[in-house]
Amino acid sequence: MYRIRFHGRGGQGMKTAGRILGSAFFLEGFEVQDSPRYGAERRGAPLTSAVRAGRSPIYERGIILKPDLIVVADDTLVPVPAAGVLQGVEDRTAIIIDSDINEPEWHQRLQINSVIHTLPAPKDLDRAEMPYVGSLCAGAAARLTGVISRATLEQAVLEELHEFKESVIEENIERALNGFDLLADYEGTVIENTDPTALNYQPPQWIDLPNESVNLAGPAVHGGATSVEVRTGLWRTMRPIIELDHCNKCTWVCGSFCPDSAISVDPDGFPEIDYDHCKGCLICAAQCPPHAISVIPERDSIEKEEA
Ligand code: SF4
Ligand code: SF4
Repeated sequence: MYRIRFHGRGGQGMKTAGRILGSAFFLEGFEVQDSPRYGAERRGAPLTSAVRAGRSPIYERGIILKPDLIVVADDTLVPVPAAGVLQGVEDRTAIIIDSDINEPEWHQRLQINSVIHTLPAPKDLDRAEMPYVGSLCAGAAARLTGVISRATLEQAVLEELHEFKESVIEENIERALNGFDLLADYEGTVIENTDPTALNYQPPQWIDLPNESVNLAGPAVHGGATSVEVRTGLWRTMRPIIELDHCNKCTWVCGSFCPDSAISVDPDGFPEIDYDHCKGCLICAAQCPPHAISVIPERDSIEKEEA
């Protein structure tokens, strides 16, 4: 069975990528499972999509722990532990990264023996919504399996996106075929792993957890503000910056609209953004009456800080 895991951010089309690849496998006669996994968060949050394709009924469920292929649509996710991009990676696992950093550099950074392929990342785009990157990734993944033809891939894109207007479908087909052609030299290099059998099943090490007393196990939440430990600033792809010269100190506006309470008021009455917890939803920028909040790509702000 093939086990393929896509990683991206909400809004980058990873769910669609999984569906396109799943449909392509299905059209080639495979049994297929495809399922995205994400929480209730907004666009920009890390998410995964899993595709299993087998030649007999698939009984395995849940997240893919030992993938044959990992596809990463957004290279900024690789160092984010919460995204789990490298979870279960083995020497035999192939990796595709949509990135303008080259393959030797990725090997140097990750210190792994897996084969890494890079796809050219689109430049000057909002990385939270890179158009068509899902189709590009699906096409590249299809080529590495070696069991999906170009015509089948095109048919799968058509089936999955038939509700969209013609120009969008055409653009997605072009991107999918582009991904398929880019990895032509590596066709069939992803090898499906054997299914685990009941014969070598290892039972888990059970741990007995005694019941808590009722006053602790009851539904009342005793510990407040625990979300402060979750640094959702890692999800941010665009950074809001308050231009104090233009700010008129109406902090009840930006402070109230921020869904994460990431804007506080400094001793001089100016708003201050907590970048550890600002997710980059940009609601503050949209609501600020004098347009005193500008927005720059997160990558540029990191470069500015390092300069
Ligand atoms: S809404 Fe805009 S002008 Fe008002 S305090 Fe916030 S940043 Fe300043
Ligand atoms: S972008 Fe603005 S509104 Fe959104 S989380 Fe950050 S500070 Fe709050």
